[in-house]
Order: sequence, then structure tokens, then C-alpha cells
Amino acid sequence: MEHFYTLQGEGFHQGRAAYFIRLGGCDVGCVWCDVKDSWDSGKHPLLNIEDLILNIERTQAKLVVITGGEPLMHDLDALTATLKEKGYEVNIETSGAHPLSGYWDWICLSPKKFKAPLPGILPLANELKVIVFNRSDLDWAEKYAALVSPACKLYLQPEWEKASDVTPLIIEYIKQHPQWELSLQIHKYIDVP
Ligand code: SF4
Repeated sequence: MEHFYTLQGEGFHQGRAAYFIRLGGCDVGCVWCDVKDSWDSGKHPLLNIEDLILNIERTQAKLVVITGGEPLMHDLDALTATLKEKGYEVNIETSGAHPLSGYWDWICLSPKKFKAPLPGILPLANELKVIVFNRSDLDWAEKYAALVSPACKLYLQPEWEKASDVTPLIIEYIKQHPQWELSLQIHKYIDVP
């Protein structure tokens, strides 16, 4: 769908320079999705891996983030193997709703109520990032926290349009449950893609 060099705005790697590859295609259907243009993969041109990497090599990027859409609708073995051969650190952001492919330095699992993650990815997640749209999402977040590995980092992130309502709830919740941390979409605050 698009690719660009920016700062990672969310989660554990927040604030780091990162080259983003946003793949078209998603069948998860989150009502609050902020990239609905990504849903139809047919709307976005195919690029070959070599051309994509030439674009990355024109930047100082060390970290590449594969996102979507739902990137695991595609077989990511070839893309990630080539990126790793070139020495890039390669991270994914996924709902986990499709089988895992690819070679990863970091898996950010962001499960969605609209299409549950497959069980196989849960113990492999380095980071669990739950988008909070309302209070009941906090209980739902705990369900997944119990299924990931003990080393997995836990983040609660306010849904952007609901942030003024839910951020105070999240702050209080984290104070009571300090295993969780707050993730903000800082790229939206600093107005970068
Ligand atoms: S998984 Fe991501 S891209 Fe797909 S509908 Fe949900 S927020 Fe949008």
C-alpha cells in the first residue's frame, strides 16, 4: 500500500527511526480502523522485493517494520529473508489472525475482537498491544495477557478517536496493574506518517 521512513510511534520501539512497509489486504474488519484503504489488496500495486529494498537503502534505516492491513495475509518468508540478509532488524505488527510466516526480530501482536488471533502466535509474541476502545477492552486484554509468554511486554493503547475518554481509564488501570504500560500513537501527535 505504501512505504515510508519515519519514527515508530507505538509500543516498545516507540521513538526509533524505522522504515515502514504497509502491505495491502485485511479481512479483520475493525470498526475503528484508521487505514481502511488498506483492506482491498487489489487496490494497491505489486512491488518486487529488490525495488522495495532499493528504496530502503536510500535511507539510514536500520529497522524495518512490516505492517498493514494484516501483513500475515501474505507469505512473508521471501521479503523478510532478503531484509535479514541485508542486515536489517525486521519487526512485524499483526493481529495474528493468519498463519505466521517470515523471520522476525520482534513480533508485536495486536489482537482484535473482530477476528481472533490464531493460537500459534501467542507464545511467540514479544509485545502484546491491545487497543482500548471502551472499558470492557481492559478485561479482554487480560485474557490475552494470560496466553502470551511471561517475557512478553504488555501495552494498552487508547483508540485514537476515543483517547480523551479512555486514556484516564487506562492510566488508572496501569497504576493498579503495573505489569501493563501505556502506548500512545506519538506519530499522530507529532504529525508524521
Ligand atoms: S487489523 Fe488493522 S488494518 Fe485490519 S481492520 Fe483492524 S486496524 Fe484495520
